[in-house]
Amino acid sequence: MQIDNEFLNYDLIIIGGGINGAGIARDAALRGIKTILIEQEDIGSGATGACSGMIHGGARYLISDREVTKLSSIDSGYIQYIASHLIFRIPFIHPIPSDYPNGKLFIEQFETFFFAYDKFQPYKNGKQHTRLTQEEVSELHPGVTKDILGAVTFDEWGVDPFRLALLNAISASENGATVLTHTKVIDIIKENDKVNGVKVFDKQSKRIYEIKGKVIVNAVGSWSNIFANKFNLTMKIRPAKGIHLVIARRLSNYAVGVFAIDNRVIFIMPHKNTTIIGTTDDDFYGDPGDIPITSDEVNYLLDSIEKIIPDIKKHRIIRAFAGVRPTVYNEYMMEDDLSRDHLIIDHEAIDNIKNMYSVIGGKLASFRFVSEEVVDIISQRLSVHISSKTSLIPLPGSERSINLQELSHKYKLSLFVLNKLYSKYGDRMLIILNMIKSDNSLKVNICKCESVSEAEIRYVIKYELARTLDDIRRRTRSGMGSCQGTGCTLAISSILKDELNLSFEDEMLEVKSFIKERYHGNKPILNNNISIQQIELNMVNNMLLTGLDID
Ligand SMILES: Cc1cc2nc3c(=O)[nH]c(=O)nc-3n(C[C@H](O)[C@H](O)[C@H](O)COP(=O)(O)OP(=O)(O)OC[C@H]3O[C@@H](n4cnc5c(N)ncnc54)[C@H](O)[C@@H]3O)c2cc1C
Repeated sequence: MQIDNEFLNYDLIIIGGGINGAGIARDAALRGIKTILIEQEDIGSGATGACSGMIHGGARYLISDREVTKLSSIDSGYIQYIASHLIFRIPFIHPIPSDYPNGKLFIEQFETFFFAYDKFQPYKNGKQHTRLTQEEVSELHPGVTKDILGAVTFDEWGVDPFRLALLNAISASENGATVLTHTKVIDIIKENDKVNGVKVFDKQSKRIYEIKGKVIVNAVGSWSNIFANKFNLTMKIRPAKGIHLVIARRLSNYAVGVFAIDNRVIFIMPHKNTTIIGTTDDDFYGDPGDIPITSDEVNYLLDSIEKIIPDIKKHRIIRAFAGVRPTVYNEYMMEDDLSRDHLIIDHEAIDNIKNMYSVIGGKLASFRFVSEEVVDIISQRLSVHISSKTSLIPLPGSERSINLQELSHKYKLSLFVLNKLYSKYGDRMLIILNMIKSDNSLKVNICKCESVSEAEIRYVIKYELARTLDDIRRRTRSGMGSCQGTGCTLAISSILKDELNLSFEDEMLEVKSFIKERYHGNKPILNNNISIQQIELNMVNNMLLTGLDID
């Protein structure tokens, strides 16, 4: 991407387009601060896109970190308002196995704990807990073993984390910010004791150039230790890896909490067309952009869930994915017990570098609050006296109410299709519908597993900064269903080629890189000894076969 020199001066440079960076960009842009957001891959491609996607209070932290639970619950309420089209309810059932030590006493204590959590539910529009008998659990979720003492329920909310981060970036851009993706910050430029810009590498055009800015916010999440070492900043996180497994279909409308073999709480929950099992929590000091997943981790989750859902291993697991939590550093603690609080660092105070700040930690569920706090500090530095508007102004797509029934008559599309579109694009789906109206061929369903039309693919390239197959996947869920892209990748790559005017060679590079990404998630499920060459061959064969079939 070529940028004119006149656009290279900003008040605020934000490094890292996870939920925190994107949230800060939106908050700052809405206050009229001239902002640029720079992300090395895609918006939401780090921990944000690899999280469990819960806009929850975090019952887990109620005892160790009550303030985090309260803050997340309050922010969850705001996020539900500003991102109403992206949010879905997740009712949880947590059964207590019959052989749980002192089970009868424990279930009483467990319920007492949820009486305490109930106090936070009104902040996040959640229902109060209930106590269920074994028979009631079986009625709600027949897959749960009968070998339980009963269960306690609690109520949470889920979100598509990719789109939540993306819509913050898009809102920032619509309010005057510049958003650069696939652009890595490779140096920080200083003048005496002040930062005054960054040097970046645009991975697609291969250009290196400088961007000037008065204030820099580092929001690189789990890359913080690498970043701190490289730029001599005092900042330390305790990165903690978590993996998830994805089952090819939605097994139930209820999520189930489970005590794992080591008594940690894990879960199995519906997410879109799939079911997700998560998660682990282990110290991780490798590259957050290339996280290995072992068969042991996969087995740990499956064996633990099997105790409560005995048939679990009969279901088809399509992939595993991993992320690294950018948890604030602390010693003498197990990973699960680390605080999910956030920290804002002014590097003038500790490194004698003026106008440089870092934000670490936090949760998806508290990003809006964290962003507001960061921009309050930056605003003081820039003498901007406008308060945050992010709790009041809905994100793109949640600005207007939509009558799906009317649209169904008008555009002659089923409510099923319209609901799917609404849950991703909200009121912006009207743009997609009008694209289809002017060219009916765009309604063809390209990704059959996730029901993604050609119009959607063209829409996210035109209006949502998608530049690669993986970017399209994050925005539309293409390739995230049961076939894992084997049925749709070639069709989508030809649309990408058409929209971005790619050469055939560049298109094939894209396809290869997409296969590699899918391979990374397939490998731990299939067999960790299988080679990438073998997987590539299998996937290409499948793709070609399926492609021929479709044509
Ligand atoms: C397994 C797991 C489950 C979780 N579940 C939940 C949950 O259900 N609910 C919840 O509230 N929270 C959850 N979290 C926590 C939440 O996901 C994180 O706290 C949050 O996403 C962190 O966002 P971030 O913006 O700080 O980091 P990230 O999303 O990692 O963003 C940092 C970005 O910086 C970019 N970057 C790095 N270096 C550079 C550079 N040099 N130049 C440009 N860009 C750079 C990276 O590419 C990355 O996109 C979970 C986390 C994990 C790992």
